Amino acid sequence: MWIYLNDRFVEQDKARVSVLDHGFLYGDGVYETLRAYDGRIFMLRQHVERLERSAQMIGLRLPLKRSDWSPLLAEALRRNSLTDAYLRLTVSRGEGAIGLDPALCPTPTLVILAQPLPTYPARYYDEGVRLIISQTRRNLAEALSPQIKSLNFLNNILAKREATAAKAFDAVMLNHAGHVAECTTSNLFLVRQGRLCTPGTDCGILDGITRNVVLHLAGLRQMQTEEGAYTPDDLLAAEECFLTNTTMEIMPVRSVNDHPIGGGKPGPITQALHHAFHARLPEFLQSEQGSLD
Ligand code: PLP
Repeated sequence: MWIYLNDRFVEQDKARVSVLDHGFLYGDGVYETLRAYDGRIFMLRQHVERLERSAQMIGLRLPLKRSDWSPLLAEALRRNSLTDAYLRLTVSRGEGAIGLDPALCPTPTLVILAQPLPTYPARYYDEGVRLIISQTRRNLAEALSPQIKSLNFLNNILAKREATAAKAFDAVMLNHAGHVAECTTSNLFLVRQGRLCTPGTDCGILDGITRNVVLHLAGLRQMQTEEGAYTPDDLLAAEECFLTNTTMEIMPVRSVNDHPIGGGKPGPITQALHHAFHARLPEFLQSEQGSLD
């Protein structure tokens, strides 16, 4: 596998980062996960803009200009002979002496990975996945904003460990107020009385790019939508539930804490949005190509 490290493509065994990198020592850095379909990257501009926002929120200077990402990602796909791929952009604070002060690190470290897309079993999409509600609360936004897509991922990892221990697909994280926030790497939607609902960004979630696409598609289909604060009971009583993120797209949920949601298969709103997502995909890919300037 060819990996872009700082200023060049190197083979995976040559892609080495210092043990004094503050990304390694302190989780000080930001990242993005992207997906390529047939060589074209989904919502590239939105991902780059979110990377810039995350970096800006931690006072990190990105080593690339906006217009540099598109050709580099295309080259990462080409070098690895990939068309349908998972791409990860990571920018850490860089190498520096021990200590928390970012000024100890003069140069950020940049890594671009392109790998074959991890696929989920078809039955997950046909039947839905099992979730639990984790005991681990989502970070308090005033402590570490979930809007920063940071390398400091332990909050979500602790919740994921709970899901794995319960043999569930993933864990729903509540916020400090006990409202539903999101899953460990995805946003959550529920259908209540025919209305498509999702926790608002003020619930302390990452403002997911797929979440925004789904809200946009729902708007085009004149579905009733609502961004609000929902309790675990609201979730358990939902008619339908699904998760969204860049790699899984729209993933139906069949149960939460072993409590069945809907009728054991994706409900009509989940299915309609899934179809709409795929029907509009070429358009989303086309519109995101070219220069990011
Ligand atoms: N929430 C969290 C915590 C995530 O890590 C992710 C993606 O990795 C998402 C939501 C979904 O974001 P997106 O749709 O932009 O992939």
